[in-house]
Amino acid sequence: MKSIDTKTLQEYDRRYVWHPFTQMKEWEEEAPLVIERGEGSFIIDSDGNRYLDGVAAIWTNVHGHCKKEINEAIKAQVDRLEHSTLLGLTNDKAALLAKRLVEIAPPGLNKVFYSDNGSTAVEIGVKMAFQFQQHRGGRFARKTRFISFTNAYHGDTVGAMSVGGIDIYHEVYSPLLFSTIKSPAPYCYRCRLCAGKDESTCGLLCLKELERLMAAHADELAGLVIEPLVQGAGGMIVQPAGFVRKVRELCDKYDILMIADEVAVGFGRTGAMFACEKEGITPDIMALSKGITAGYLPLAATLTTQRVYDAFLGEYKELKTFFHGHTFTGNPIACAAALASLDLFEKEQLLSNLQPKIDYLKKRLSSLKQLDHVGDIRQEGMLGGIELVRDKETREPYPWEERIGVQVCKEARKHGLFLRPLGNVIVVFPPLSISLSELEQLMDGIEESIREITR
Ligand code: PMP
Repeated sequence: MKSIDTKTLQEYDRRYVWHPFTQMKEWEEEAPLVIERGEGSFIIDSDGNRYLDGVAAIWTNVHGHCKKEINEAIKAQVDRLEHSTLLGLTNDKAALLAKRLVEIAPPGLNKVFYSDNGSTAVEIGVKMAFQFQQHRGGRFARKTRFISFTNAYHGDTVGAMSVGGIDIYHEVYSPLLFSTIKSPAPYCYRCRLCAGKDESTCGLLCLKELERLMAAHADELAGLVIEPLVQGAGGMIVQPAGFVRKVRELCDKYDILMIADEVAVGFGRTGAMFACEKEGITPDIMALSKGITAGYLPLAATLTTQRVYDAFLGEYKELKTFFHGHTFTGNPIACAAALASLDLFEKEQLLSNLQPKIDYLKKRLSSLKQLDHVGDIRQEGMLGGIELVRDKETREPYPWEERIGVQVCKEARKHGLFLRPLGNVIVVFPPLSISLSELEQLMDGIEESIREITR
């Protein structure tokens, strides 16, 4: 193919592409980087400039860009079968991957329902939980509602937005959304319940409030939706240790299905294969996407237990079928990429090799606390959030119009980094395969950019 110069590509983008989560008026005034290639922890633009990928291609990349083994698995699959359908058929890769996912998932999750993005994986979980209660019948059929958390993000489809809780994204659509019950997120730094006390002394009032709401609505609650360990898009908000375990106990106590949205944290990000594993629990339903194909191809899976699955068994005329499915469900190329990624987890002992990087990240993040405008530092495994504040004493945030996060990320480009903020929070979310020296480069660049912009 004849190569087209960068300026022309930028012009095509400006004229024809509508970007996600982007104010296009602003976008049209800038010349975007045109990314042409990837290599390990780096993405490379059409002018040959290299950027260390600090956000792992929007929280998906695991083994680095253009990893030989995954490329080969995809190429081999393309030559065998590009797509079939799971409607009335199966394919070898989808069946093999389902078995592998069940083997590595928290014990008891043994059925895999495929789809192709994170929002849908959650939405499927919500529909499944709802229908499960309908099939139980009697008083359980009144269990039709959901409880989730303020500041939660579960995706952009209507059901996923309904269980979400970030006003800036969801408010405008509120007439379209179904009503859910919201419990306060355990956002310790800005907790409205305990006025920012330390989690060792706050008495976990957020859990008390959750229990109060669950008890009050138990008769009508079908399920609870949670991002276990970390609320991602809400600002990398890390939950106190034991929080998820307690949520599991409360779901059991009030007979509410627990839906764990591991779309962002699944596949090693927290240092364990799945976040729920770190708390020693099995949710009733678990949504996976992003890291499932190591960031290569759209694929998602909603895993559930035998108990939930069995409630859907019956004669066709009983209408207990789960009437849900997408055209590209169980796509064999995506499943082949996912299988190759799981092989690499084993071959490269990825999880056991993460610890020195997690320790290094911890050291570097903690040292940022000394900076005048770094209010809070959060870390869980290989993800971090640096919350910038105008006033450290009072915790006064920078006004959002100032877009301090965006400014820092723009500055970081000068240091050869690609970052994307969440409001005033600088996100650290590199490919898990990043080397220690690349991690050093990433943290040096972040520190210098924060110093420069907040000076
Ligand atoms: N759940 C969580 C926790 C997420 O972080 C995201 C994406 N950031 C989603 C769901 C939605 O995934 P997708 O963008 O693939 O629809």
